[in-house]
Amino acid sequence: MSLPEDTGFGDGTRAVRAGLPDPVKYEPTLPGPVFAAHFHLPGEPTGPYTYGRDENPTWTHLERAIGELEAPGESVETVAFASGMAAISAVAFSQLRAGDAVVLPDDGYQALPLLRERLEAYGVEVRTAPTGGNAQLRVLEGARLLWIETPSNPGLDVCDVRLLVERAHAGGTLVAVDNTLATPLGQRPLELGADFSVASDTKGMTGHGDILLGHVTTADSARAAEVRRWRKIAGAIPGPMEAWLAHRSLATLHLRVERQCASALVLARALEARPEVSGLRHPGLPGDPSHAVAARQMRRFGSVVSFVLPGREQAERFLEGLRLVDDATSFGGVRSTAERRGRWGGDAVPEGFIRFSVGAEDPEDLVADVLRALDASAP
Ligand SMILES: *Cc1c(COP(=O)(O)O)cnc(C)c1O
Repeated sequence: MSLPEDTGFGDGTRAVRAGLPDPVKYEPTLPGPVFAAHFHLPGEPTGPYTYGRDENPTWTHLERAIGELEAPGESVETVAFASGMAAISAVAFSQLRAGDAVVLPDDGYQALPLLRERLEAYGVEVRTAPTGGNAQLRVLEGARLLWIETPSNPGLDVCDVRLLVERAHAGGTLVAVDNTLATPLGQRPLELGADFSVASDTKGMTGHGDILLGHVTTADSARAAEVRRWRKIAGAIPGPMEAWLAHRSLATLHLRVERQCASALVLARALEARPEVSGLRHPGLPGDPSHAVAARQMRRFGSVVSFVLPGREQAERFLEGLRLVDDATSFGGVRSTAERRGRWGGDAVPEGFIRFSVGAEDPEDLVADVLRALDASAP
């Protein structure tokens, strides 16, 4: 028990205590990482800890912590993975069989087309539709699984999770939500009715840009067992050190997310006033096409802002001109990063499209740096 009889606590209280074991005299608050390929196991080989690919006490603490953030006060199970893609693959490959249909977003994470290729090779029918306008509803009929990514990465479109879940469940379709961008402090997919909340914890969840990790949370213990079994088969397990670092990082999740989301809105407002900026997107901006739906289902709007500069050269000059913002991929870290997303070739975005991840710097410093780099990027 890490929290005395939860549900009424605030996000900060929950984050600092999430997943902690009961205090034991002379033991640390958060036990250190357990490095073990196998555990002493005389007699019958029953759990909880037998072999290192199946279970590890450091994962157990982290999985409890994530569950407490994903669904406060509810009984859920979380399975930690070596990366976000391992978590996504675990849901897809444990739930889908040849002959099933799955609905994926066509504007989601850039590795989804790779997943699509594999699923099709195994005889799964893959349908796609954009996130915006709840367009996935139109191809839902008879599908086994609906995969939602909201806000979508990198376009920041939002769909109505409650509505999609209601329609999916009416037709016997399971729903998974990729909650990477929002983190559980920004959005709780299980509360919105989803069967699985899935995330890359490489991003805002751990927030320091130094580990890869992922998780799946579900309230259905049979499905949790299927996902855990897939982890055992594929072997995409988190290292104990990564799992421990992730747990340690969760203690500051509320502070980081609060600061980064607030600064993202400040930056978005500053960009609104710039003539060279078009296609500005952030779900927290009252004028954003996503705002109304986002405000109904999100508790915080995320740390990512996206926008378009007039062409590749100007976007590159802008990135080079930034002093406080690293030109790097990924997002959600305490140090701001930005990139010209089109350089990867995987997303349908204009050449001058910038995905900007707002860090924990002082917002005045960050905005000044961005405005200066914009001035310097002018042709
Ligand atoms: C980064 C990301 C992933 C993949 O996560 P990894 O930890 O890199 O495997 C999946 N979904 C979204 C939305 C992401 O941003």
